[in-house]
Amino acid sequence: MPVKSAVLGYPRVGINRAQKKATEAYWAGKISEQELQTASQAVRKSRWEAIKAAGVDIIPSGDFTLYDGLLDHSFNFNVVPERFTKQGLSPIDTYFAMGRGRQDRAKGIDVAANEMGKFFDSNYHIVKVDHAPNTEFKLVRNQWLEEYKEAKDLGIETRPVLFGPITYLALVRASRDAPSDFQPLDLIDKLVPIYVEVLKSLKEAGAQYVQLDEPILVTDKAEAYGDIYKKVYAELATAEIPITLTTAYGRVGKSLDYLKDLPIASLHLDLNREPEQLDAALDALKPSGKGIELGLISGRNIWKNDLAASKKLAEKAVAALGADKVVVSTSSSLLHTPLSLKVETKLTPEQVAWLAFADEKCEEVATLAAALNGEENEAFKKNTKDIAARREFETTSDSAVRDRVQAITPEMSKRKSDFSVRSKVQAEAIKLPKFPTTTIGSFPQTKEIRVARAKFGKGELTKEQYEKAMEDEIKSVVDIQERLDLDLLVHGEPERNDMVQYFGELLNGFIFTQLGWVQSYGSRYVRPPIVVSDISRPAPMTVRWSSYAQSVSKKPMKGMLTGPVTILNWSFPRADVSKEIQAKQLALALRDEVVDLANAGISAIQVDEPAIREGLPLRKEDWDAYLNWAVESFRLSTSGVEDKTQIHSHFCYSDFDDIFPHIQALDADVISIEASKADLKLLDTFKAYGYKNDIGPGVYDIHSPRVPSEQEIKDKLTAFVKVIPAERLVVNPDCGLKTRAWKETEESLTNLVNAAKWARENL
Ligand code: GLN
Ligand code: ZN
Repeated sequence: MPVKSAVLGYPRVGINRAQKKATEAYWAGKISEQELQTASQAVRKSRWEAIKAAGVDIIPSGDFTLYDGLLDHSFNFNVVPERFTKQGLSPIDTYFAMGRGRQDRAKGIDVAANEMGKFFDSNYHIVKVDHAPNTEFKLVRNQWLEEYKEAKDLGIETRPVLFGPITYLALVRASRDAPSDFQPLDLIDKLVPIYVEVLKSLKEAGAQYVQLDEPILVTDKAEAYGDIYKKVYAELATAEIPITLTTAYGRVGKSLDYLKDLPIASLHLDLNREPEQLDAALDALKPSGKGIELGLISGRNIWKNDLAASKKLAEKAVAALGADKVVVSTSSSLLHTPLSLKVETKLTPEQVAWLAFADEKCEEVATLAAALNGEENEAFKKNTKDIAARREFETTSDSAVRDRVQAITPEMSKRKSDFSVRSKVQAEAIKLPKFPTTTIGSFPQTKEIRVARAKFGKGELTKEQYEKAMEDEIKSVVDIQERLDLDLLVHGEPERNDMVQYFGELLNGFIFTQLGWVQSYGSRYVRPPIVVSDISRPAPMTVRWSSYAQSVSKKPMKGMLTGPVTILNWSFPRADVSKEIQAKQLALALRDEVVDLANAGISAIQVDEPAIREGLPLRKEDWDAYLNWAVESFRLSTSGVEDKTQIHSHFCYSDFDDIFPHIQALDADVISIEASKADLKLLDTFKAYGYKNDIGPGVYDIHSPRVPSEQEIKDKLTAFVKVIPAERLVVNPDCGLKTRAWKETEESLTNLVNAAKWARENL
């Protein structure tokens, strides 16, 4: 039997973003549920056909979703919290409400979504439904059987995909009302029979195998899961359908000791990120005659795979286990990659030849399997040529940038004086009142702003006209802030399409796709820039806008930049150079911008790092290495200025427990953090840690249009000063205001300013 090829999962977006459009049209009431289902069916068909056309042997089914795959499991298992069931919604609307909440005042419906959480270290977000000790499971919808049959009717044999039961329970949420020692994994005995039921139904329908995704196995905590895995998989084996257990996003480490003994047909490993785990796995799997599925083609990056190198690794597996025990596959689902390169008309042929999106990755697994089976076909030869050309390109470097990174000294990452000294110099220079008020940077991105940008993009506005439109907007935003009597102003960021793309477009070293959409959550897609070469700043990027803003106000202005770690984490990084080096190149470019802003008379500069925490490696033993360069990069970008410049940073989260020393080490003069959890417990931990610098715990949640009352904000500030010294507190919303409308923005900020004024007198 020859080596086979497989793909673990595929983007849900559909050709021309058909799925996103249909879903949003349904939400807007423009199409019926039936029309949405018809559109979705067409998307599923196109996915299977694309994978099949690429020549892949093992095609996934059941990985399609209207919102999120983990949510689908909860919904199918009938885990629907009461606040949703009591709204009287149809099943599909209940499902969507669980993902995105639902508010319909006229009908008296007001229900908040389930919590969203980041999926491993990717930018994809899962919906985490509440589970409690009394949660019961019931298979109310067998989506996997439905999709298996749907594909079969189209003449396509597939491998159904489910989250493994342990990963499922490890990812969902424990209800707030549950006893504190309860964890969803306690429910495993109740859940496993549902899985057995699904697996049996698939076997009966003719499925030859099933894929159970257990990425939780690449985390530290899974090392203690040996007993539970053995017990659960023994039960699943009673369904008598061969199971491929997949891991992704990292290494299984010590868990291999028990994985090798599970009654599964084969084990999938992420060999793209962690090729070193192959040898141990082959030794471990050999005695039991299990198969291995080699996750060689990255599901996370967009680079063409070096098939000759992958073939060498795969040959080791073939030699050890025999060809019939080896499948070549993707390292994870392809959901993290854009759909297809074919639609990219603006990339040069040279650039196209560097890259592989989902469709091209499907071709890669098929080509690799063919090569292992003795057929080094044209596609394989072209790959070898393309890789050689990319390697050639990768040797071209910007020596000025490389030299500059080489020449970084420790002094460059240190401010001139300590915070205690700086803060006095800044108080003198900027003259902010106690409880200073400020915002996080962006103001509402109105339709007019987006229209102007689109027109400029199409050439319907000249550069002068566009810049004038932006200046008018900035002037108006500054006027409004003056009228509201905010203390530290911002220009409002109207010129930015996105906080990462905007900088990528102004820096050397990035390329952009036109349709490279990647799912972030639900129907939300982002289009990450791609780092292809050394990064440098050909010219100042934001100085003209911040200077203009300062020129129309006497109040101090805060400049606004996206930090090096966040730009990198929200882009596709290059694979030939370490992330550390890329972050430092970015840091040096931003450092020049920070210095230019300061020289232009901008008194405070905020360098946003909302993604520092999400870039944390999955294994704790890898944290220090990451945090060291991440923190150094931030410091490098912000330490080129005199003491009098106040450096701010902003984080879109409030979960700092494990990384306090590193947050302190950033040494920003002011940090602002998210509100929803910026409760006293959080501030207590800041106090307990002994955090020294200034801090602006968001006083209200900007993610909802709700206007916080003045009293609410006063209450927050009253509570805050009990834990954080009043002179260290800054008063701000918890994130940028770009997604809000002006009405609620003005009302909220009015209350915020009044509360701060009250605090100055009373706290
Ligand atoms: N300065 C950015 C803004 O205000 C920060 C956005 C973010 O933290 N995600 O929009
Ligand atoms: Zn934020």
